[in-house]
Amino acid sequence: MSKIAQGIKVYYDTDKNKPNIVFLSDETVKYYPDGGMLFEFIDDEVIYMMTEKLQNRVRLYPNNNDPLTVESITECFSEWLYYTLDEEDKPVATEIFRSSFSESIHRVLENENAMQKCSTVGEFMSACCDDFLSYMKAFSLFFDALAAEASGEADVFQTEIADIFKSSADDLYEIYKKKCSVRHKNGMTQVETHNITNPIQLLDFEYSRLKKHNKSVKICQNCGRYFIPPKRNDTVFCQMPSPQNEEKTCREIGPQIKRNEKRKNDPNELEHHRKMSSIRMGILRAKNGGEDQLLPGLRKMLEIEKKRYSSATDYNDNK
Ligand SMILES: [Zn+2]
Repeated sequence: MSKIAQGIKVYYDTDKNKPNIVFLSDETVKYYPDGGMLFEFIDDEVIYMMTEKLQNRVRLYPNNNDPLTVESITECFSEWLYYTLDEEDKPVATEIFRSSFSESIHRVLENENAMQKCSTVGEFMSACCDDFLSYMKAFSLFFDALAAEASGEADVFQTEIADIFKSSADDLYEIYKKKCSVRHKNGMTQVETHNITNPIQLLDFEYSRLKKHNKSVKICQNCGRYFIPPKRNDTVFCQMPSPQNEEKTCREIGPQIKRNEKRKNDPNELEHHRKMSSIRMGILRAKNGGEDQLLPGLRKMLEIEKKRYSSATDYNDNK
């Protein structure tokens, strides 16, 4: 069986302000910033189509009981599964789904053990689907581990997974960190492009390009969504509307929410809150009762508590 889906071809420059240029199979061209293709690929709807919808379509193919032949495989893929993901505004995800699934078909065809268990096209496609989903699972594990590590939140398992990914991606980094060559010959212009046909290759590419520009995908500490800090890589909050208040971004309200959370759980914060309220109440009562002679003492207590608190905590939010 010939490959029906060839994936995408990418051209990029060394200038980090220039987008990556993606050549699609219909000969159109799209522009993506670093990480842009990755974010299109992990879109909730796209992931749903490549997993649950795909499994449903494999099950519901009308000719599932057809005997296994090159023709029946080609027909099932090119006329049925090919359209599992067919989104005009998600061209990269669409192409990579198709080329990655056709790679799964080739892998299963070459696997004698798996082939012995298949006599119908339905059984065969179900094996291909399992193979494709195992690739998707590996992709998700790597992606998540890298983001957790970049956010300083990786557990032992994620650190190990991130290391496994990096040890292979770092070889590719040597290739991806250089710009694509452009040659002029006999009045023709030839540009070098890199072919990406599956999710892991996409992750290799984006990881390398982000690394080259000192960037990485991180997990927002307020909403938990993935994001790429636009400038400083130590940013911990994203710039999307926050779940708490749609009119404000996580970056705007994240710090305050973190402080409030810390206050709720931290015994030192609770103690401080309690003491400060009690002293302030004392000042109010003294003022209202005309007992001005008590005020200097109470104000002194306020200062002492502020000092105790700021030395007991690594930040001072008490001004
Ligand atoms: Zn966020």
